[in-house]
Amino acid sequence: MTVFSNAAHDGHEQVVFCRDEASGLRAIIAIHSTALGPALGGCRMWPYASEEEALFDVLRLSRGMTYKNAAMGLNFGGGKSVIIADPRRDKSEELFRAFGRFVQSLGGRYYTAEDVGIHSDDLIYVRQETDYVLGLPEKSGDPSPATAYGVYCGIRACLEEVYGSDDPAGRTVAIQGAGQVGYHLAKLLAEAGARVVIADIFEDKVRRAVEDLGVESVPAESVYDVECDVFAPCALGAVINDETLPRLKCRIIAGSANNQLAEPRHGDRLEEMGILYAPDYVINGGGVINVASEFNPGGYRRDDAYRKIAGIGGKLKELFAIARREGIPTYRAADVLAEERIRRIRELDRIFVPARGGARG
Ligand code: NAD
Repeated sequence: MTVFSNAAHDGHEQVVFCRDEASGLRAIIAIHSTALGPALGGCRMWPYASEEEALFDVLRLSRGMTYKNAAMGLNFGGGKSVIIADPRRDKSEELFRAFGRFVQSLGGRYYTAEDVGIHSDDLIYVRQETDYVLGLPEKSGDPSPATAYGVYCGIRACLEEVYGSDDPAGRTVAIQGAGQVGYHLAKLLAEAGARVVIADIFEDKVRRAVEDLGVESVPAESVYDVECDVFAPCALGAVINDETLPRLKCRIIAGSANNQLAEPRHGDRLEEMGILYAPDYVINGGGVINVASEFNPGGYRRDDAYRKIAGIGGKLKELFAIARREGIPTYRAADVLAEERIRRIRELDRIFVPARGGARG
């Protein structure tokens, strides 16, 4: 397996392979950039078919975190980790503690948190071995409701852009994934009077959303065919691709999943099709804003964090305006915004200051 020549390698600073036979841990930690501060990004637990697939995923996800943290105005770089294992079968105290030891060995260059397949309760074990974990239950906790709230605010901004009104009442939203974010998003939308259609590969997750929230459901494979105002991908990445594009019957794509576009050209295609795309790492930034709020001078305060998360709607509107003005697709406008901030902040290095330690939110 090669790292530097991997299709997803993009000048990553550091890629660490972690193996512990006794606990069964096989993990990869990727640090894409620490230009703005220590790398911050969650840990994903997934039964990848191969190590190559896991490497590709962690490289893409960590790069996305560099852009997300920059776009959210946070002083963190981009990193991510993956544990190659099945979250329904392979969780154990020793596995998470072994992972925590590897995180600690990086000395604060990487802060971990939860992602797909990991629950904030799992982080309690990670915390026993490292200081560099965010989103613990006694601190900011599970970031998923915060992410869902950010996506909800983002969907409202998209509705306003397309229909001239941000009111979700009477709009149809198809949500792919009834997991931690998908469920909370469905709840917010249903409460606001939207018609919600949800899909998941696991029957129990769909049933929970249908029974608790009174939403509709379709089989996982049919979600792309739902006639809707908004398609909200809240499962895995690369779902906007050559096969799914011709099937979409929506005006807006706005969801929490990372790396929704299989390739940048799919973002160009959405533009041509007249579908408004809310760039994934901007609309799904609520979770990272929430965990990074643990570094606020007075400690974590939910109301402060949520006020900042509500700003995601405004960020999207700003980005849509740039896209219109420059005649570029929205995914490209998001990159411009993030790259600009990294450049501007890096230029501050021209002013010498004696070293200060630690992260600064
Ligand atoms: P989760 O594991 O709780 O939920 C994902 C759900 O998607 C699961 O229920 C899974 O069964 C389902 N799924 C997988 N493949 C599917 C398919 N083909 N069709 C339908 N459903 C499918 O994860 P989550 O925390 O809800 O995160 C969802 C997405 O949002 C991920 O891409 C994640 O990286 C991203 N995200 C999450 C957060 C957060 O705070 N949790 C923050 C930012 C981004």
